[in-house]
Amino acid sequence: MLSGWREVRARRPWRISAKLLIISSVVTVVGFSAVCVNVLLDMRRGEEALARQTLENLATSIEADISRNIDIYDLSLRAVASNMLLPEINTVPKPVRQLILFDHATTAKHFGAIQVFDTEGNLVIDASTLDPAPENRGNEDYFTVHRDGPDSNLFISRPMLFRGAYSIVLSRRISDTDGGFLGVVAGSIRFSYFHELFERLSLDPSDTITVLKRDRTIMMRRPFDLDIIGKNLNGHRGWSADNLRAGTSYSGQGPVDPTPRLYARSGENGPLFVVAGKPLSAVFALWQKEAIRIGTVVLVLSLFVLGSAFMLAREIDRRAEAESKLEEMATTDALTGLRNRRKFDQVIDTEWRRAVRQKMQIALLMIDADHFKAYNDTFGHQAGDQVLVGIAICISDSVQRAGDCAARYGGEEFAVLLPNTSAADAFKVAETIRGKVQGWSDDEATSTVSCGIASLVPTAGMDWPVLIAAADKALYAAKAGGRNQSVVAAVPKLSLVA
Ligand code: GH3
Ligand code: MG
Ligand code: MG
Repeated sequence: MLSGWREVRARRPWRISAKLLIISSVVTVVGFSAVCVNVLLDMRRGEEALARQTLENLATSIEADISRNIDIYDLSLRAVASNMLLPEINTVPKPVRQLILFDHATTAKHFGAIQVFDTEGNLVIDASTLDPAPENRGNEDYFTVHRDGPDSNLFISRPMLFRGAYSIVLSRRISDTDGGFLGVVAGSIRFSYFHELFERLSLDPSDTITVLKRDRTIMMRRPFDLDIIGKNLNGHRGWSADNLRAGTSYSGQGPVDPTPRLYARSGENGPLFVVAGKPLSAVFALWQKEAIRIGTVVLVLSLFVLGSAFMLAREIDRRAEAESKLEEMATTDALTGLRNRRKFDQVIDTEWRRAVRQKMQIALLMIDADHFKAYNDTFGHQAGDQVLVGIAICISDSVQRAGDCAARYGGEEFAVLLPNTSAADAFKVAETIRGKVQGWSDDEATSTVSCGIASLVPTAGMDWPVLIAAADKALYAAKAGGRNQSVVAAVPKLSLVA
């Protein structure tokens, strides 16, 4: 029985407490959630990088197609500009002149007919007809830019209505060998080219493709909106030069509609560049679904873990409480509420060993009700029980030090263990108890107790029954001496401390 008790005491520090369980569960849930959030953010960054790359590739391939077509058309313009310098060009018959000046490239589907204007802007030659109707383009920017500047580079105009179709006009200066201005050769690429190009791509309705000139003028946009074609984005707040740098992407509101998009642009090579945009909601649609799915699972798991931890913690608390109640019950005397004999044996064993180790004195009182059989016989067993309860109250009122242990030793006999107490002090305690019992009981049936007191410094090899025997002997002496008195044991063999 005693060894079982020690085992229980030894195991106790390893028990998980309810608090520890809750703390470890919360830490686990928080840690696990942090890992999940990190993984989800990584996934989001991955989705964004993939979308950016796709948009960049899309913008670059559109830009390459546009540049190639402009190059082809420009070759024809150059050929016209240089052939116009041939001295015979104005003397050969018109059909022959047409053959010399214009190749078949200019008859491609979306290209407008090439036209040659003189120094005043009058139309002089038209690839589509031998006898063009007179017209003057002297005020158009694709004419004036060449007239006013010696730069012979290709000029790309703003988008405009040109011969009944929205187009961009490409023009070159015709200069003589000295750089003198001889006129302008101009042609057009119709918007239908862009429409067809964009239709070939598989794009979502909310994806945008914007074709811009290097000066950031919008040349074309998908979805098509005539209002913004030709607008310049230079002064646009949300679209600073930084947002449109090559090789970078931008996520946020665009210049046209408020939908936040991820935008990426093509490189720096051609005369035009392309910006491709995809709504952020579409970029992260898959991720969002996955995040909601994973988030829900993590949330449910976390709630489950926390819920289980709380329930387990409550169960642990409940059991701990029940255990302590059981322990209390197993160590308490039911009638008097004092420690029972079993507990007293454990305490005296522990305290005895401590006293041996520390070479301290240990005192014991053995208290016995006087003439109790007679009391029972006179007043009944139940009245006797009440007296025992009264004696117990007197004892526990007089014994208040932390290490003291008052117990019902058996029947109408009580034991009080007083560690580190001299016989004189123990005698005082015994007298206090005796006085209280006497004072407490009524005059009609005065109850008294006799006390046997023993106190000694135990030595190794000595066991605690010696102390009990000594106190018992003193108790017998008290009884023999007339009862209602306290007697200190005087056993010469023991090192008693008086
Ligand atoms: P003494 O002064 O010599 O101690 O006389 P005594 O009558 O007290 O001694 P004895 O040992 O002869 O009698 C003890 C009596 O205590 C026997 C029993 O009737 C009574 N007793 C023992 N346990 C209880 C108990 O739990 N309740 C009650 N009411 N009486 C008890
Ligand atoms: Mg007795
Ligand atoms: Mg008695």
